[in-house]
Amino acid sequence: MAKKIDGKASAQGLRERVGEAVSALQRDHGLTPGLAVVLVGEDPASQVYVRNKGKQTLEAGMNSYEHKLSETTGQEELLALIAELNSDPGVHGILVQLPLPAQIDAHAVINAIDPDKDVDGFHLINVGRLATGAPGLVPCTPLGCMMLLKDELKDLSGKNAVVVGRSNIVGKPMSALLLAESCTVTTAHSRTQDLPGVCREADILVAAVGRPQMVPGDWIKPGATVIDVGINRVEGAEGKTRLVGDVDHASAEAVAGAITPVPGGVGPMTIACLLRNTVQAACAANGIAFDLD
Ligand code: NDP
Repeated sequence: MAKKIDGKASAQGLRERVGEAVSALQRDHGLTPGLAVVLVGEDPASQVYVRNKGKQTLEAGMNSYEHKLSETTGQEELLALIAELNSDPGVHGILVQLPLPAQIDAHAVINAIDPDKDVDGFHLINVGRLATGAPGLVPCTPLGCMMLLKDELKDLSGKNAVVVGRSNIVGKPMSALLLAESCTVTTAHSRTQDLPGVCREADILVAAVGRPQMVPGDWIKPGATVIDVGINRVEGAEGKTRLVGDVDHASAEAVAGAITPVPGGVGPMTIACLLRNTVQAACAANGIAFDLD
């Protein structure tokens, strides 16, 4: 039976370290990191995410600035807000909650954020920094996955890693991070041939697809470490919905060496990494050494 990789506990540990770092910054430098979160429209899931981000930012002792704009907000108005936040010295991190309404060009908005305040790590400059090994801000979900993997395996060097999914938010940055740790990386996607065979080669298997329970146990190499990024809401018993990952947990845990559950795996690490990135950005903006990991 696979060991459970407890993302909830790891996230709590990371949030505590963030809280201690914030206290030290306040005590030694009179600096309180600040995170601005921008929400456009009424998307219910986005509202929940933004509320949680604001709450956890405050709990870590940081300043939280929430900007809620109407569904009909135009591109120029949003860009004007980004420009204001870019020049605000009290704001060290800026996050624009995605998805944005159709009239707004999400790429243009993300690339208008000061790259050194881009705590989501989606700006082209940060994508380039990650690809070339330069220091920068790394997307929160893959960063959280890497922390769980390093905790579990210590040295990742030389391992065969397969990432299923190639989105800009999860799959591609995840592959870049694994490569930086000297894994031999395969990035699989919807056109990959013999996906089961590709997955069976993986010492480290990361599933970031968005298809409920797509990866069964017989695609997994015995003893592999499995990171399930998927968050899918499916019909459960008595008409209630429940969350499942992209991996079929019941069959996978009989084969894998270690596996993240859904919920309670990667999900909690994502917001904790956002807080961590905000402290990193605040330190960099003030020329203070950052050592939290
Ligand atoms: P996207 O929809 O942007 O990307 C999905 C990827 O999966 C694509 O690259 C796609 O390939 C690939 N794919 C789709 N179908 C198949 C298939 N049958 N076989 C192989 N590959 C396939 O999703 P995201 O990357 O944004 O998210 C992935 C999952 O992670 C979702 O469940 C999402 O909810 C979850 N998520 C969880 C987070 C967390 O905090 N835990 C944060 C972000 C996302 P192609 O490119 O060829 O179309």
